[in-house]
Amino acid sequence: MTTRKKFRGGFPLGDNAWRTRAACAGMDTDAFYGDPRRQAALARAVCGPCPVRVPCLAAVLVFEAHAIGGRHGTAGGLSAQQREDAVAAGLGVALVAQA
Ligand code: SF4
Repeated sequence: MTTRKKFRGGFPLGDNAWRTRAACAGMDTDAFYGDPRRQAALARAVCGPCPVRVPCLAAVLVFEAHAIGGRHGTAGGLSAQQREDAVAAGLGVALVAQA
């Protein structure tokens, strides 16, 4: 099992009830990985209007802070590089605090 499947399958991050309202629920999440242009399109189309984008982004930032192997794929409407940039700019803490 890959790290991302463990995460999407319900990494234990406290209250996970928000996951039931995820716009990507039931989707093949493999589409969130791989080609950066496809990921960007998905982030706009699926994550953009997702009602749980903030808690999703907070959860993935917490997960990635404790994970080995860096950031991968689209989550919370941001690519791995965008999340890296947000954390480097100090925005990660603010995002987690909002969730
Ligand atoms: S923000 Fe994107 S990855 Fe996160 S739950 Fe919503 S659709 Fe899924």
